[in-house]
Amino acid sequence: NMVSTDEKKQDSSIKKQQQQPLQIINLDQGDPTMFVEYWKKAGEKSNIMIPGWHNLSYFPNNNGGNVCWFLEKEFSDEVKKLHESVGNAITKDRYIVVGTGSTQLYQAALFALTSTDDNDDDSSSKPMDVVSAVPYYSSYPAVTDLLKSRLYKWGGDAYKFEDKNEPYIEIVCSPNNPDGHTMEPVVNGNGGKLIYDLAYYWPQYTPITKPADHDIMLFTVSKSTGHAGTRVGWAIVKDEKIARKMTKFIELSTIGVSKDSQYRAATIMRAVTESGQSISLQLAGNFFEFGKTIMIDRWERLRKVAAENGVFSLPKYPKQYCNYFGEIREAHPGFAWLKCNLENVEDCESLIKGNLKILVRGGKNFGMDNKKYVRISLLDQEDKFQILLDRLATVSSASTKIK
Ligand code: PMP
Repeated sequence: NMVSTDEKKQDSSIKKQQQQPLQIINLDQGDPTMFVEYWKKAGEKSNIMIPGWHNLSYFPNNNGGNVCWFLEKEFSDEVKKLHESVGNAITKDRYIVVGTGSTQLYQAALFALTSTDDNDDDSSSKPMDVVSAVPYYSSYPAVTDLLKSRLYKWGGDAYKFEDKNEPYIEIVCSPNNPDGHTMEPVVNGNGGKLIYDLAYYWPQYTPITKPADHDIMLFTVSKSTGHAGTRVGWAIVKDEKIARKMTKFIELSTIGVSKDSQYRAATIMRAVTESGQSISLQLAGNFFEFGKTIMIDRWERLRKVAAENGVFSLPKYPKQYCNYFGEIREAHPGFAWLKCNLENVEDCESLIKGNLKILVRGGKNFGMDNKKYVRISLLDQEDKFQILLDRLATVSSASTKIK
């Protein structure tokens, strides 16, 4: 009764605030919208205008003699220039195949590596195993087994794959989604064919230590420039026959890849390449510098929250020399692979989804038995990232009334 009415009012408004249900924040998908701020500032060089009479034909305006018949030369030229300027992949004397996202190219590569030239023989042979090291990108199993193909099937964790001297495919994702580590093949078999998914091998995420030079490498504008909605990816392929088969797969599934999108992607890639060479002053600075600065800032803030409450741990990354930035640095991946260290919490996904109302992807999607791991996207907009930090900070080992 010593409490004034004002104070009472304040007290009840605080309670009301606390009782308001938390807004649900979605950091499940890796939707790279943080790059929007760069592209808003980037200006004319990144715009594209397509007159109504352009790009009507199924056939490319200029294919430049590429094996992939629906590939626009302007697109493949910009792919090569971008890799040349970043130094993350060899493109000289390689075939470029364009796809509707790298998701389509992954399927095209599986087809190319498993289909025989004479299709009649396929019925007797058994599907080839496709494996990847746990924790692997959560889409691989579903995409691989979607059509229950007679050519290939998901074989699970590459670490557990028993090599029976038979052909298999290992998909190597480096840096790895979800945990950000640089990866090498883990199966050491004779019959192995490799697909490298290099979606995140770009300087904003990881040190560029050497130009990648593998038989089949997959890249995408989704994670490099942030244009996931353009749905364009590319494969860099050494073997002509494989490039032809991949092209065949895309021809039969979608009769090629949107020309509008190829031109948009070419324009965006040109803007990125030129931003690094400071040719164009109206651009918003070096694109990769922009990305790196945000990623470093986010990782510092996230690691601080984790260190302060002691509940969560994060992977550690080695310091390596980055040829692109000319400095020693560590990786700052697009996802946080977060481990919950509370003993009484069995399932980290339900802790974060249920109590903190943040949608994240649990470890089981990546082939993990241990439920203490979740993947959280760090590629979203700043306001969502700050809410993530605020809510993670409310979990403490002392207040573990959490189921
Ligand atoms: N590979 C990896 C490792 C990815 O994280 C993603 C997107 N989440 C993809 C491939 C698919 O990319 P795209 O949008 O080009 O289909």
